[in-house]
Parts: sequence; C-alpha cells; structure tokens
Amino acid sequence: MLLDCAIIGAGPAGLNAALVLARAKKQIVLFDEDQPRNAVTHESHGFITRDGIRPSEFKRIAKEELKKYPSLSIQEQRVIDIKKENHSFTIQTSEGHSYRSKKVILSTGLKDVLPSIEGIEQFYGTSLFSCPFCDGWELRDRPLVVIISEDEHALHYTKMIFNWSQDLVVSTNGKKIFTDEQKALFTKKNIKIIEEKIDSLQGEEGRLQKVRFKNGQEILREGGFVLTGQEQASPLAENLGCTMNKMGGFEVDRFGRTSVEGVYACGDTTFTEPPQLIIAAAKGSMTASGVVNDVIHEEF
Ligand SMILES: Cc1cc2nc3c(=O)[nH]c(=O)nc-3n(C[C@H](O)[C@H](O)[C@H](O)COP(=O)(O)OP(=O)(O)OC[C@H]3O[C@@H](n4cnc5c(N)ncnc54)[C@H](O)[C@@H]3O)c2cc1C
Repeated sequence: MLLDCAIIGAGPAGLNAALVLARAKKQIVLFDEDQPRNAVTHESHGFITRDGIRPSEFKRIAKEELKKYPSLSIQEQRVIDIKKENHSFTIQTSEGHSYRSKKVILSTGLKDVLPSIEGIEQFYGTSLFSCPFCDGWELRDRPLVVIISEDEHALHYTKMIFNWSQDLVVSTNGKKIFTDEQKALFTKKNIKIIEEKIDSLQGEEGRLQKVRFKNGQEILREGGFVLTGQEQASPLAENLGCTMNKMGGFEVDRFGRTSVEGVYACGDTTFTEPPQLIIAAAKGSMTASGVVNDVIHEEF
C-alpha cells in the first residue's frame, strides 16, 4: 500500500501531526523508537491541562486518543533508512520491514549533549535542568548553580535563571568567558562567578547537594541549570539532503516543508526556541496541515 504520509518520531510533534492527518482521513504510519529528548525527566511542565505530567503518561494518553482513527497505525520500530524515488519514499525499519509513502514527516527530535563533568548524568532531569521555562518553577528561590562555559549565551542565560532564583553561583567550569563589565554587573546582583574547573557534582538520588572544584573548594547548592549542547537524534534528514540552519535544526517553511520536496520536519528537529512540548505539538499540527494541503492539491 502507498501511504499518504509516514511520520518518523512520536514525540509531541509527531503525535500531533498524526492526529491532524488521521482526522483528515489520510493513510499514515507513525514510527517510534521511544527515546524522547526528555526521557530523563519525571515531570513535564507548561503544557496546559498536562502540567506536571510524567512524559510516559503524556505519550500513553496521546496514543490512546489516536487509537480511534482507523487510517493510522503506530509502529514501534526505528526507521533506519529513507530513499526518495521519483514522487514517493521507501522507508526501511530496523526490524526489516519496508513501507512506501507519498510524504514523510521527520519529527525525530534532538539529543542533549552534557558537558563532561563527573556525576552530571545522575542529576540531569531531577535537580539539574537546561530550560528554566520547563523547570525553573520547581527550583525557584533555591540556592542554584548555573554551569555555562561558552560566552555567546552566558550573560543572557544567567539573567534568565536569575528570574527564578537570586541565589546563584555561576560556574564557567575552567573557562574565562565573562568580561570585567559583566563581572561587575554580576557583583551588583550578588551573583558569584567561579572560574575554577569542576571536579564533580555530588548528592543523593538525583538531588544535587554540592559542587566540588579541582582546587578543593566546595559549594552547597540544591540544584541548578546547565547550558547543554544539542545534536539531531537521527541522521535521516541529513541523509535525505535537507538543508540545515546554523543552529543545527532543519530549515522549513510555515508548513514544515524542508528543502527536499515531499519531506517535512517539525518539533525539535527544526530547533524550536524555547524547546517546549506545546510548541513541538503546535508545529506538528501546522506541518500535518501542510501535508494534507499538498496531497489534496496534487491529487484533486
Ligand atoms: C531534561 C529536559 C526536560 C524538559 N522538560 C520540559 C518541560 O517540562 N516542558 C516542556 O514543554 N518541554 C520540556 N523539554 C523539552 C521537550 O522535551 C522537547 O521540546 C520535546 O520533547 C520535543 O518534542 P519532539 O516531538 O520534537 O521530539 P521528542 O519528544 O524528542 O520525540 C522524538 C521521538 O522520535 C523518535 N525517533 C528518533 N529517531 C527515530 C527513528 N529513526 N525512528 C523512529 N523513531 C525515532 C525518538 O525516539 C522520540 O520518541 C525538556 C527537555 C529536556 C532535555
């Protein structure tokens, strides 16, 4: 069977795209290997009606809602290859299955890359986060560490975190990234900067208690924020030849069309800012309406 659309990745972007396409009576398959970007977190915030929900519960409800649409099938398989042939695509999965589709939506998301600091993985997602809009409320007014070692966003990022807690220590993890002017600004706000390299993060059950520096200095902190790097979770868009922007996301128009005809992308794959579930879902919805529009016009 030739599908109308194959959606790769069932995060909020892919799930919402599936909902809109299924409701437009399109034949679709939604593929997912269930390794979302926020897999490390216990709660998701900021999605109205779902504030504080477990990420796995969010997904369960979404899949439950999708069950009532007969033209949609969900395949829990990793897509390993997509080939474009004239006006259709062949999608190959890790389980050896092959599907053909007129259009493809890539909603495969991003992966966070943490700085290499001993112990960081055990705190990331419980008491150490990257996005203050997502988790700032939970850490509000607490003694926090801000770990940032690149100068481009350092001032902006620290100012943002200061909104949620004014008890901040900024660790540059061994780098000298702040100008004298910026340091003076921080001093005025009682923000301490430590330029020494971090030795380790310490605490229990994901709860940060202490930051230890290479020179033996230790500071007590109850949580914090770390500016992470990001990379694409999947090479599929790049392999298809989609144009990337300088932030590492794929370029799309309002309706999710990439530079490759028939290939659409949405959610974190396009590097949305701020990265939020509700924004990814909204982009999924817009992209699905773009696909429905294009299929209707091509076939009318
Ligand atoms: C620690 C942390 C906490 C966060 N907390 C919040 C929060 O509280 N509120 C909020 O709004 N946002 C939060 N975010 C951001 C949020 O997780 C992302 O913005 C959102 O998940 C993006 O949705 P997406 O659908 O684009 O991608 P994802 O949710 O990452 O989903 C992509 C899916 O595609 C699948 N996939 C990838 N490649 C393939 C393939 N080849 N074949 C099949 N499947 C594939 C993945 O396994 C995954 O299931 C947080 C992020 C992090 C890192």
